[in-house]
Amino acid sequence: MRRLTLSPDGPEVSALAYGVWRLADDPDGATIKRVREKIDVCIENGITTFDHADIYGMYTCEGLFGAALKESPELRESMEIVTKCSILAPCDALPDVNVKYYNATAEYIERSVERSLAELHTDHIDVLLIHRPDWLARAEDTAAGLSSVVQQGKIRAVGVSNYSTDQFDLLSSYLDTPLVTNQVEVNLLRMDAIYDGTLNQCEQRGIHPMAWSPLAGGHIATGDDEQASRLRHALDAVAIELEATVEQVALAWVAALPSQPQIIIGTNKLDRIRESAAAESITLSRTQWYTLWEASKGVDVP
Ligand code: NAP
Repeated sequence: MRRLTLSPDGPEVSALAYGVWRLADDPDGATIKRVREKIDVCIENGITTFDHADIYGMYTCEGLFGAALKESPELRESMEIVTKCSILAPCDALPDVNVKYYNATAEYIERSVERSLAELHTDHIDVLLIHRPDWLARAEDTAAGLSSVVQQGKIRAVGVSNYSTDQFDLLSSYLDTPLVTNQVEVNLLRMDAIYDGTLNQCEQRGIHPMAWSPLAGGHIATGDDEQASRLRHALDAVAIELEATVEQVALAWVAALPSQPQIIIGTNKLDRIRESAAAESITLSRTQWYTLWEASKGVDVP
């Protein structure tokens, strides 16, 4: 598995990350044993970055993963942990919250980091991301919170998720430590980040974006609307040419982007984790890449 340096002085990560958003929804169980199986398959296949958020599984996934780390603390040395904060949603874990909202104030960031460290049974987090921009927080206040948790040694590096380029620049202007990534949705059915400057900004700053939902949450493989069906027809043809699977070709399409995103897979299936890791060796030709773009859009490139 290729290794990436997320930003010029930033942490080293695997080119594929494993996202734990769906950990608690695994039809084969949300047990420590099952989580451990997935961690082991990831690490065996070179996937060492695990992408968390406090809210995943309605604030249960960090704890589930952390229980596996508590049982086998030596695993922590073999992985990089990314987690996120800023989204609060009504659920059993947050009985005082009755409406979904965002909070990226310094006070909340510090509180959330304490919770994540405890849940994950670790003394540090490799990368903390602001999950979504909080339209009520002053960037200076968010930056103060991020700087504080870095200075305290609880967080090694900081970044953002779902930020516009302007929001990224504004927050950066208040930080001594550079933002190491912007985690955004990029896949064959969702290409906004290619056109709105997000990926260009990452390339210009020498940082790697993190691409979430690279299979559009599975829609690329199973969607039955006109666009998904048309795209899958084209993916099938390229997959045959490359002796690969449709999912592998879809991952390789994202990997080909010049900003070289770190791709976050989300499958709960052990075989799909292995198959995703093997996609690393697949390179699309320029014409295959554009053929898939055209199949997604239903038009020729202008
Ligand atoms: P994804 O890879 O686009 O989708 C994974 C889903 O697709 C799984 O439910 C998987 O089911 C299904 N799937 C894949 N191939 C399939 C097939 N051939 N047939 C049927 N189903 C198939 O990734 P994602 O889970 O949506 O997101 C990945 C990660 O991105 C998350 O875990 C999270 O870490 C991150 N994320 C971040 C944000 C953000 O705002 N920053 C938002 C969303 C996600 P199986 O389990 O059955 O394989």
